[in-house]
Amino acid sequence: MTKAIKEPSFRDGVNLMVDRAISVIGLDAGVANAIKSCNAVIQVQFPVKIRGKIEVFTGWRATHSTHRLPSKGGIRYAPYADQNEVEALAALMTYKCAIVNVPFGGSKGALLIDPSQYERDEMEMITRRFALELIRKGFLSPSTNVPAPDVGTGQREMAWIADTYKQLNPEDINYVACVTGKPLHHGGIEGRVEATGRGVQYAIQEFFRHSDDVKKANMSGSLDGKTCVIQGFGNVGYHAAKFLSEEDGVKITAIIKSTGALVNDEGINIEQLHQHIDEHHEIETYPCAQYVKDGQTVLEKECDILIPAALENQINLENVDRINAKLIVEAANGPISFGADSVLNRKGIIVIPDAYANAGGVTVSYFEWIRNISHIRFGRIQRRHEEMRGMEMTKMFEEATGNSVSKHIRDTITRGADELDLVRSGLDDTMRMAYQEIRETMDNDENIKDFRTSAFVTSIRKIARSYLDVGIL
Ligand code: NAD
Repeated sequence: MTKAIKEPSFRDGVNLMVDRAISVIGLDAGVANAIKSCNAVIQVQFPVKIRGKIEVFTGWRATHSTHRLPSKGGIRYAPYADQNEVEALAALMTYKCAIVNVPFGGSKGALLIDPSQYERDEMEMITRRFALELIRKGFLSPSTNVPAPDVGTGQREMAWIADTYKQLNPEDINYVACVTGKPLHHGGIEGRVEATGRGVQYAIQEFFRHSDDVKKANMSGSLDGKTCVIQGFGNVGYHAAKFLSEEDGVKITAIIKSTGALVNDEGINIEQLHQHIDEHHEIETYPCAQYVKDGQTVLEKECDILIPAALENQINLENVDRINAKLIVEAANGPISFGADSVLNRKGIIVIPDAYANAGGVTVSYFEWIRNISHIRFGRIQRRHEEMRGMEMTKMFEEATGNSVSKHIRDTITRGADELDLVRSGLDDTMRMAYQEIRETMDNDENIKDFRTSAFVTSIRKIARSYLDVGIL
């Protein structure tokens, strides 16, 4: 049996990565400590009567920073959750928001639970009770702390939380903004469910627009035909796989789940696989790929792009030397340990870090929150006006040239942007601009050699400036 290599905890690993960036900036130690420390964390324990028996549940919510309000971050339901993980994830949210210019502080929450062991009604009771604890203790409101979905939670949990907040605060006109990632008919926004996977796609597209970066990763050309291995086929992994394969011509040669992996060097049809899982609830009998029981070994499969989209610490000192990818895009939070990150940097394997790569979720959450507090759907006011302008332009062109415009061009020009168009456009813009800022930071400082350090430097400079501007320090 191989001896486990001791590595820092997730929280310490994040802090070590941040320290690397702080040393590049040469930031005052006091300011650095203020930025790194977690502002507040609560642990709640509450009883719920399940099938006639009382069960006590434990949950946490950490507010890492409040230099911008509200603080923002998902709520995770997992049987392995703990306070250390919640604090690490809350810290990542602080840096992430600053990287993509989302004016929020960082927060995160978790409930120690295996959701697969409970019925829907039981999950509702537990979620409402957890929300009650967070609301009463000042850790959940539209203006101070706004959760979103994460591992093990989704739209339905967000709807229950919003409704619980509304019952307790009937006078709050902005109650629906107390969580994001809600169902559309409960104040959600088009494009939120797909947002993190979509953001991963936009980040990779932007990487491939920078031929120097592509060359550094020992690749050339466009995304079309590149091979890609994805770990995790939940919200983030599925959407990233779908968009990259259907829209960019990427070949998804392996999908890794907790129950094994599927491999097909010709590329896996993502929608077909998704339907198979919906119908059969397993991947072993999927007919169009080879099933590998030990999914973890498939992380080491040769590919152009490796996308870990499941859990933290998946690439660590045990397996990092066997990783055979040219580019790793961290769709999950913390999938590469601090030690493994240093090894990858030494080997010249490019890593697009989590705090940038998976920021699509919080970016569209920001759009949803704005929609909620402004009480109007994006596009509602200008859409028909844009259509009318398009029709007039087409008519003018036809009259001036005597030629008629094809149906395809007419439909394109005379279509006003709807909410989904605007959300995707805003997300694409955010991911492109953030990449360019990170790139610029790296170009301007020869001590910065990797994207993660550059992303943290970019982010910490903004946070430090905001602390110093208001004179907190
Ligand atoms: P999810 O619960 O929808 O999916 C998680 C997936 O990981 C599932 O397919 C599960 O089978 C798989 N998985 C679990 N253990 C695994 C293992 N050992 N090996 C392989 N696969 C395993 O969660 P999600 O929302 O897709 O989140 C995935 C990651 O992305 C997490 O790190 C989360 O923090 C991060 N993230 C999510 C969002 C979001 O909007 N949902 C936003 C930013 C970051």
